[in-house]
Amino acid sequence: MTKKDQIHILGPCSLESDEQIRKVINLVSSLGTSYIRMPLFKPRTSPDSFQGMGVQGIPIVKKLGAEYPTLKFVTEVCSERQFDLVKDHVHIIQIGARNMQNFELLKYVGKNFSHEAVLLKRGFSSTFKEWMEATRYLTNAGIAREKVILCERGSRLMSSPTGVVLDFVMALKAKEKGFKVIIDPSHGTKDRKYVLKLAKASLAMDFDGLMIECHPNPETSISDSEQALSLEEVKNFYFSNHS
Ligand code: PEP
Ligand code: MN
Repeated sequence: MTKKDQIHILGPCSLESDEQIRKVINLVSSLGTSYIRMPLFKPRTSPDSFQGMGVQGIPIVKKLGAEYPTLKFVTEVCSERQFDLVKDHVHIIQIGARNMQNFELLKYVGKNFSHEAVLLKRGFSSTFKEWMEATRYLTNAGIAREKVILCERGSRLMSSPTGVVLDFVMALKAKEKGFKVIIDPSHGTKDRKYVLKLAKASLAMDFDGLMIECHPNPETSISDSEQALSLEEVKNFYFSNHS
């Protein structure tokens, strides 16, 4: 269903409850993939918006890690403190678009890294050069290049009807530099109607995988509900669209 070395990271925009994430785990298990989004700390535009479960979610992550030793958890860190809080409980450390040029964070993650990989998303107005230089903060601190996975999540574009546009050439160029590159068509379109079309295009272009936001009940997703797919939609996509 998915190619052997590909990385398919599925799950909600935010961890909301034990019950919610167990439904995602069932989906991931049925697909034979193993990477799950487990976002605890959300960088939100408005301070009034849900900021993620934060430390309250850590017991859930720990419990599920013990129950499902073959699953791999991916979580975003926005600060050194957040890295320290999650470092022993997750497999991939995500540095999001807003922190791609948080140089002190990049250096700290680089120095204290002992994980399967670090996922570095491109900032939504970052140039190719800025993205590549950001990777050097990680590798200069000691992370092997093979462990740096890059994620294209689109650029902000006022003329786009959704306000964002995925930059496939940017992602192809990152691949030419020898990095694994995955595509995030969820933040890259901000509209569930287009997510799977661009996911399909990404796989046709031989990228190394996808990051897709999904939720047991997308309409009720506390964050990014407009782009969340149902678990059934994701399941059908993987069963029907990819060899
Ligand atoms: C995310 O993946 O949860 C996220 C916030 O994405 P981005 O950093 O690309 O906005
Ligand atoms: Mn999101």
